Amino acid sequence: MPSPHPQRKIDVGVRVSSVADVIGPADPQASQSHEIAVIAGFAADTLVPHANRIDQRGIRRPHLDELAATGALGLPFPTALGGSDAPAGIVREATELIAGACGTTWFCAAQHRSPTKAVLASDNALLHDRWAARLVSGNALAAIAFAHLRRPTQRFWIRDEGDRFVLNGSLDWVTNWPLADVVLVEGYLKSSSGEQRDEIISLLVEPPKLDLVHSNQLDRDDIQAGPSLSLAAMGGTQTWPVSFVDFQVSAEQLVGRLPAENWLHANSLISADANPASFGMARASINELTALAASTDQPQVAEVAEGLRAQLIELRSRAYADADVATEDPTMAAATIGDRTAVRAAALDLNLRAATALITASGGAAMMLSSNAQRRAREALFLLVQGQTADLRQASLGYLVE
Ligand SMILES: Cc1cc2nc3c(=O)[nH]c(=O)nc-3n(C[C@H](O)[C@H](O)[C@H](O)COP(=O)(O)OP(=O)(O)OC[C@H]3O[C@@H](n4cnc5c(N)ncnc54)[C@H](O)[C@@H]3O)c2cc1C
Repeated sequence: MPSPHPQRKIDVGVRVSSVADVIGPADPQASQSHEIAVIAGFAADTLVPHANRIDQRGIRRPHLDELAATGALGLPFPTALGGSDAPAGIVREATELIAGACGTTWFCAAQHRSPTKAVLASDNALLHDRWAARLVSGNALAAIAFAHLRRPTQRFWIRDEGDRFVLNGSLDWVTNWPLADVVLVEGYLKSSSGEQRDEIISLLVEPPKLDLVHSNQLDRDDIQAGPSLSLAAMGGTQTWPVSFVDFQVSAEQLVGRLPAENWLHANSLISADANPASFGMARASINELTALAASTDQPQVAEVAEGLRAQLIELRSRAYADADVATEDPTMAAATIGDRTAVRAAALDLNLRAATALITASGGAAMMLSSNAQRRAREALFLLVQGQTADLRQASLGYLVE
């Protein structure tokens, strides 16, 4: 059963963060949005104060339920299903605020979005009816395992046996695994004779329930999961390795199937864009840098903060304009993959520089695990590999020898 939805009372528009926002949203309409006021209040009151503790000790489901109660998980989805049907500018601003406040919370929430979209787009009416509204509201939490599909060689496959699918092999990274009600597991089809087919199968798997208070792993003959990976960054995201031996999933759990070429093409169009999370994290570092410059009377730090602020505003505006064009026009989307990947790499580089500037200007205190600066620097490193494509790797490496 999914966790009950907490009834949290939120003070709309009240922000307790002591750090002023010197950058603001890319879309001025976001400043007038009720949804953004609620999320900004939650970010300031709850996410910012607990971010370092969650980074160190790990996120738990009630925290994500509280986020869901702000409406953040349903923002882009139809109102008929309990979402907000919010425009891209509002969704991006919400992502920036959440990622800037707590990278762990952002990443766990981000894993929920693609499975929700997939269920909404699925031809499987039974699956849609069972999960769509619960996922949009955030009453049910989702995870996803798909990054392995971009690798040149596979270690995980799905066999089609008519009334069921059979899963074999390992998934290295499944964030949210022990917290999620459903996991969108995607894999290449393998024939019964063991040959890989050029088709990708997407299944909605309900992971066996675990009580994290008593156990940090699952060990069954057909499925092994956990424990939570020890990581230099994002260690609090409940990211578990999962492996399967003839694990059976009913055919009723099929979300969709696509020729691999189509899946990879669609994925390359989406993964080229800069993630608003990178701007949100950089924005938070620059805000803190600006506040630090004033409170410690460091004029050079103020100049650096101003330079980074100007770069962020320009780059962000370009990234979002390019992404809008790509969303509207599939031909343009394909033609601009290279340019958009270059902007994505520039955003990752800016985020790293902003976190590094905050560390440099903070002195030794930045190395304390209670400091936001070290956490943001580690989160910025993580973003270099999160959703990494071969093109992005090349573009990011380019910044290191300039
Ligand atoms: C903390 C954490 C949590 C994560 N959570 C999830 C999750 O919940 N769900 C999920 O699906 N993924 C998750 N990931 C995976 C993450 O998105 C991937 O790490 C990322 O996409 C990089 O892929 P990889 O680790 O498979 O690296 P690689 O296998 O190195 O692949 C990265 C890219 O480089 C390309 N590449 C690899 N080798 C070469 C080569 N020799 N030459 C040229 N190109 C090459 C690949 O094709 C691919 O596009 C998580 C990762 C981390 C670190």
